[in-house]
Amino acid sequence: MVKVVKNVVCPFCGTLCDDIEVLVEDGHIVGTRNACRIGNAKFMHYEGSVRYDSPLMRENKKDEFKKVDYETAIEETARLLVESKLPLIYGWSSAECHAQQLGVLLGEKVNGVLDNTASVCHGPSLLAVQDVGYPVATLGETKNRADTVLFWGSNPMHAHPRHMSRYSVFARGFFRERGRKDRQMIVVDPRKTDTAKLADVHLQVEPHKDYELVSAMRAALKGFKIESDYVAGIPTETVYEAVDLCKNAQFGTLFFSMGVTMSRGKHRIIDNAIQLIVDLNAHTKFSLMPMRGHYNVNGFNQVSTWITGYPYGVDFSRGYPRYNPGETASNDLLQRGETDMMLNIASDPGAHFPQKALEHMVKIPLVCIDPHQTPTTELANIVMPTALTGVEVSGTAYRMDGVPIELRKVVDVPEGLLSDAEIISGLLKEVKKME
Ligand code: SF4
Repeated sequence: MVKVVKNVVCPFCGTLCDDIEVLVEDGHIVGTRNACRIGNAKFMHYEGSVRYDSPLMRENKKDEFKKVDYETAIEETARLLVESKLPLIYGWSSAECHAQQLGVLLGEKVNGVLDNTASVCHGPSLLAVQDVGYPVATLGETKNRADTVLFWGSNPMHAHPRHMSRYSVFARGFFRERGRKDRQMIVVDPRKTDTAKLADVHLQVEPHKDYELVSAMRAALKGFKIESDYVAGIPTETVYEAVDLCKNAQFGTLFFSMGVTMSRGKHRIIDNAIQLIVDLNAHTKFSLMPMRGHYNVNGFNQVSTWITGYPYGVDFSRGYPRYNPGETASNDLLQRGETDMMLNIASDPGAHFPQKALEHMVKIPLVCIDPHQTPTTELANIVMPTALTGVEVSGTAYRMDGVPIELRKVVDVPEGLLSDAEIISGLLKEVKKME
């Protein structure tokens, strides 16, 4: 008989939808309701593709893996961590907060560097926030109040598929009863994306010219004359019109993503955009929100900040936390060959880091904690499979706007598999024994 588990939280993107219904038959997931295609795939394929059922080890990366028990894999990983001069412990954004907390303790214990996917994602946003502030609102406030929504360098139709229907554009809110009809939507993107196709105004900015466009908008807002017919490829008249729309909003939210964090200027563009929001607040009520990617990337930054004072790229090599992205983030260490051992958890740098970082990952001992076969496990010396958080294990995750939501366990953990938290606490115990 099919059982329906309600109010399940989707462990995929930072929208962290908590209205998913999962259909379970004989202990297996057979369908979902309400989830988008990506969320549905996460639930439906949790057993699919290549899922490991036991830890694997090999001395040489060219050898075949041999099955081992968790005890052996944990002991060998602990030895590698203890013997390393500067271990890098990376990933974390698809793990729950308790496992992340244990991870911070492990990083401190082995005098390593602790980093999460923020360093290749919204890390530049965090740098900007540290410079000029964080004028944000929750997604609920946008849903209930926003009559003006900007997506800057962000394509939620593909990356956060239910964001617009749950919160930002189509949702009917307390003061926005007619949903989409009560809101104006502006998209800034060099491409005519599926999100841009739905916009009232599409500012088709030239690639890497976002900083110029933000600066021109701030100048227009302050009443300066822009002495050029075009700004970043956009007619100056259109820039004035967009600024007027924002200035006359009752409540606005600017959502931004990789189009700005990864284009020329990086954190300086966001820094400038935050100041645009501050400027707009002299006329109306405006907020901004990074479209955080993984469902718990925000959680790691929260946990790391509570414990160490810093959100990512935290270096414990001197026995106390230091923070200097550009020096202490994963790609800095890998591309400069400064780390001699890497532990990867709940992430796939083998697929998502640049070639130069991979060239170093191939040379050093690499341990990967992941339920499935990935390009990273292909480069590893040790693979430890885990139970899938948000499907087989509960825990806390932080939505993109910092609202914590409790993930639900839907089916049982396959026999013999440990959770991320169990593996990390096993590593902590083993490392303490070796001291
Ligand atoms: S929008 Fe994101 S959180 Fe919501 S169902 Fe889709 S993938 Fe999951």
